Amino acid sequence: MLRPVLPGSSKNPITVSDITPDFAAEVKRRSGTSPCLCWHCRCCTNGCPFYQAMDIGPNDVIRLVQLGLKDRALRCSAIWVCVGCHTCSSECPMAIDISAIMDTLRQMALEEGIEVVEPDILRFHEEVLKSLKRYGRAHKLEIMLRYKVRKRDWLSDIDVGLKMLAKRKLDLMPSKIKKIGELKKIFVKEDI
Ligand code: SF4
Ligand code: SF4
Repeated sequence: MLRPVLPGSSKNPITVSDITPDFAAEVKRRSGTSPCLCWHCRCCTNGCPFYQAMDIGPNDVIRLVQLGLKDRALRCSAIWVCVGCHTCSSECPMAIDISAIMDTLRQMALEEGIEVVEPDILRFHEEVLKSLKRYGRAHKLEIMLRYKVRKRDWLSDIDVGLKMLAKRKLDLMPSKIKKIGELKKIFVKEDI
């Protein structure tokens, strides 16, 4: 993948107007972890199983946060490609919760109305959340069907879906947890 030139070089200079001075502090407050502890050893990026699908690596995202380059951090694809697997955090010598930083940046991008560079990933996240809200569990078949409807893409991955059905990896009917009312209170509290 052709990756963008990161800010700070002669090809992509930083100007004062690009910088949001309290950005790193805000990310720290919201994520509960400190991006400023990162010294760019790249262990996170080297270990990330999804790095090849990202425009910039996890440590580059943290660099943008450190520099206060809010707009660039909120517009990169890496924050959406990250699946929150925590492989990076387990490699990080500074015990930075990189996944929490990615999560915070996704939330901030949505709040600021920034165009999501990976809209299909957002659609998938939304369908998973809706399933959890309805049943307290992720009903995979319904999630995939609803996602496909929204994406208007009926045929891709159908072979995988059929194989999963044949192997009984997909439940046809959803099952609901007993205390679904308690769970729904969380969604109301978090305004989801
Ligand atoms: S592993 Fe930790 S210290 Fe190293 S680059 Fe990644 S976030 Fe920074
Ligand atoms: S949590 Fe995100 S950034 Fe970290 S290894 Fe997993 S996919 Fe990569």
